[in-house]
Amino acid sequence: MDELSQLKIGFIGAGNMAFGIARGILKSGDVPSSNVIISAPSRNNFPRFEDMGVAVTHSNKEVVDHSRLVFLAVKPHLIRTVLNGISEHVTRQHIIISVAAGITLATLEELLPVGSCVMRLMPNLPCMLQEGALLLACGKGAGQDVESLLKRLLSPCGLVEVGPETWIDVHTGLSGSGVAFVYLFAEALAEGAVKMGMPSELAQRIAAQTIIGAGQLLRDGGKHPAQLRAEVCTPGGTTIYGLHALEKGGLRAATMGAVEAATERARELG
Ligand code: NAP
Repeated sequence: MDELSQLKIGFIGAGNMAFGIARGILKSGDVPSSNVIISAPSRNNFPRFEDMGVAVTHSNKEVVDHSRLVFLAVKPHLIRTVLNGISEHVTRQHIIISVAAGITLATLEELLPVGSCVMRLMPNLPCMLQEGALLLACGKGAGQDVESLLKRLLSPCGLVEVGPETWIDVHTGLSGSGVAFVYLFAEALAEGAVKMGMPSELAQRIAAQTIIGAGQLLRDGGKHPAQLRAEVCTPGGTTIYGLHALEKGGLRAATMGAVEAATERARELG
């Protein structure tokens, strides 16, 4: 029997991140929805989980008792309270995965029984559409087998990479916040077209599709972005004129600065 089909999975917290990850995991068909349970204090977010066939409860302890793998998907300031409530029920069989920004592996390990298997996962918003970029960092108790299991389980949510914990904040700047940087660029692209006479709604649709198409070529084509860019530049043509305008405006330095600022802010909050 496949390991994933046997795996009991729980989510503490029923918000957007829990939903995005749960939807990705279930969409693969490898995990039956009857193996998944989520908890939250209110029923507000339950219907969308119930629609997927997931069990719901107000008891975090019930989630721990039911599951081998437990995602902590509450806001960072609640992690301590939640772990204090479940710690005595966590055993060596459990794998605890926190998605809470800024809560370190050391803090999680300190709040759980000695030797617990703990991991951090930093997802981003497109997880909701199975197009996320996720970075996993493993605690001392998480071995190669657990890492492989998690990579396999999460792969339907998008790209899953594993790295040292210090990269989690960089990933937050690059990809968590990076989503918003791309939205700003999309807005500016469309506004440029509006300035040149195109209706706004149409310009936004075309800007979104331009970003999706360019992103897919970049991801799937195996070429460096500079190479792809060079291929679009006819000598003396439109694109090199536009790129020159972007370079004069400092887009490259501003974008690097944005990733740096967001990473530093993630470190400060941690
Ligand atoms: P959210 O939508 O606000 O959801 C938080 C959930 O936690 C809600 O379902 C809430 O219950 C539940 N909750 C509150 N207190 C609880 C308790 N004591 N026990 C169990 N559940 C409790 O938050 P989110 O956006 O999903 O974020 C969750 C975590 O993901 C955060 O730590 C954040 O740092 C991390 N994260 C988010 C993103 C992102 O883009 N959103 C990206 C990376 C990481 P109710 O349903 O009753 O309100």
